[in-house]
Amino acid sequence: MNNAALVVLGGAPAFREKLHVGRPNLGDRTRLLERINGVLDRRWLSNNGACVQELERRVAEQCGVRHCIAVCNGMVGLEVVIRALDLKGEVIVPAFTFVATAHALHWQQVTPVFADVNPQTHNLDPRAVERMITPRTTGIIGVHLWGQPCDLVELQRVADQHRLKLIYDAAHAFGCARGGRKVGSFGAAEVFSFHATKFVNSLEGGAIVTNDDELARRCRLMTNFGFLGFDQVGYVGTNGKMDEFSAAMGLTSMESMADFMAINRANHSGYQRELAGVPGISLLPYATPGVDYNHQYVVAEVDEAACPLSRDLLLDVLWAENVVARRYFYPGVHRMEPYRTLFPEAWRNVPQTERVARRVLILPTGQCVDAAAITKICSLIRTAVLEASEVRRRVVGSPFQVHRELI
Ligand SMILES: *Cc1c(COP(=O)(O)O)cnc(C)c1O
Repeated sequence: MNNAALVVLGGAPAFREKLHVGRPNLGDRTRLLERINGVLDRRWLSNNGACVQELERRVAEQCGVRHCIAVCNGMVGLEVVIRALDLKGEVIVPAFTFVATAHALHWQQVTPVFADVNPQTHNLDPRAVERMITPRTTGIIGVHLWGQPCDLVELQRVADQHRLKLIYDAAHAFGCARGGRKVGSFGAAEVFSFHATKFVNSLEGGAIVTNDDELARRCRLMTNFGFLGFDQVGYVGTNGKMDEFSAAMGLTSMESMADFMAINRANHSGYQRELAGVPGISLLPYATPGVDYNHQYVVAEVDEAACPLSRDLLLDVLWAENVVARRYFYPGVHRMEPYRTLFPEAWRNVPQTERVARRVLILPTGQCVDAAAITKICSLIRTAVLEASEVRRRVVGSPFQVHRELI
């Protein structure tokens, strides 16, 4: 055995209960229960009830767009827009995103083509998009990753120049803005997710937003089986409707957006302060002038050339301490099935995605994390990294291994 054991702390885990990335934020419980009682009193549980109508109005208002169609989740929202826009052939998506972005296309018989991302922002690189355009390309789906608005101007330019439809997967970016313009108002349409882990949540849910009247009309019909009226069906639709309890949750969650944002921002600065100077660890900064962020994700990057501990060993250490950090979007959608088998060479086109996917580590934030927890998590990270550097000095060239049973 030439493995150097890396022991960070003895005894019990640093946290008694698991601290998960993506624990939901909750709005005012009394308000939620009032709304739920209202739903029960009205006995109108789905199909464009009062809560869904109010949510659609508020989301449209918040984004400054004409139309909002609430849906049962973000993935179905994407599928409906893809179909309503009649996207066909190939559509370009980033390789570094949640798998649903690509699945929504594939589920609609459209081929996702993976383009690379900008290593600074992890967002779709417009020049990489241009390189992937073929005669079969009909559209682009930008993803506002981690709530950072995409390179909107350049993506629009590429789309216009090649006559492609441009939509955005805005699952991470509710409440974000660029140049005073809210996410939700860009491209032909944008799709939010209000899944439990997202910035604003409706348990499960999402919304399609657009300024295009005809597109909105088609999306609305498609989310309700294609019904044009009683007994009259005009399209092949699906059931993409949001129910009233979800809308009640979504409305209540929206009312606390400012609080969620303040908590997230404070948590992010706490991490930034306490991880400063730890070799090889950096945080995505959320610092572009003119951009409003929701700070929903604390995105750490482990630079293995500068950090004595690998990203995956750091993850093992944190898990052993009950800090359930996550390698979001690893190993990249292009390396997940069915795409890995369909496009075995796709990785050659996305070197930055490959690199970023090996570096990213998402740390817990939101209401369940306070300043004391952040201090403790950062101290675990610092200790693990410094100890690894010590072990590495003593046992030059030895591979590391975290012995969970010793921790
Ligand atoms: C969460 C998410 C989705 C899917 O949203 P659901 O509401 O869970 O279906 C799509 N794209 C991205 C980038 C996401 O993070």
